[in-house]
Amino acid sequence: MHLYREPSVTNLDFDELASYLEGKIPFVEITTRRPPEANHELETERLAEKFAKTKVKSVESPEKNSNPLYGEIKYEEGLIENPSKDVSGVMYDGHLLSRIYHRLLPEEETDASHLHIIFTKRLFGTGKEKGGRYHARVSLYSYPTLISTSGIVEAPAKPKEFYREKRRLASLGETGGTIERLKEKFKGRFIDYDDERLTEVMKGYVMQALFYHLRSNPFCEKECCRLYNAHWQEEVIRAQLEPPEFCEKHSNILEEL
Ligand SMILES: [Zn+2]
Repeated sequence: MHLYREPSVTNLDFDELASYLEGKIPFVEITTRRPPEANHELETERLAEKFAKTKVKSVESPEKNSNPLYGEIKYEEGLIENPSKDVSGVMYDGHLLSRIYHRLLPEEETDASHLHIIFTKRLFGTGKEKGGRYHARVSLYSYPTLISTSGIVEAPAKPKEFYREKRRLASLGETGGTIERLKEKFKGRFIDYDDERLTEVMKGYVMQALFYHLRSNPFCEKECCRLYNAHWQEEVIRAQLEPPEFCEKHSNILEEL
């Protein structure tokens, strides 16, 4: 099982994630690695163009970004060369992104005996069905699996009151610094960028990747279980930060592994 580091976050401890996994599945060898972009053999510009092509043009439609602009390619070049650079306001197609990363994996490790989990700061989405809207995701369970450190902030919805308050302030014409003030008011009830609880939260997502790999189903219907497919921030917090770790069924499966 290979974890690929995402160097832009400081509160995600990959060594702790690896030792957590070693505790759960001692028979599996866990490695932590540099971001897959570090392994590319292509020219940076070619790879940057591939990334730019996976950008979602509009969340309303599945139209592909087949002819990326020069500026978009340069932006991606910057990200490849400096992986700790911040990224915001862009969404990528999760499946296309996974395909690019697949080509960056060591060829001799692309069989079912290897599980690759790539942490990325890129925010990605997937469409529900053909022609449907894109929805931001925390994770995409595929080969390789992708987990987004932006997705954990942006994909699960914040408390309903957060949005109610946001609309109220907007209707009063208040715009400056609104989001920051709201974040302060609702602090603790959602996961923020580089949140200090990030490592603990991500333990559940790597376990979902493991269950996807072993049993084809990463999810559990029990809200208390780390494998719960949370759509709300408060559900993420409940599943990942409050006991128990796993429901009875999944605890038993883990013990039998
Ligand atoms: Zn469960």
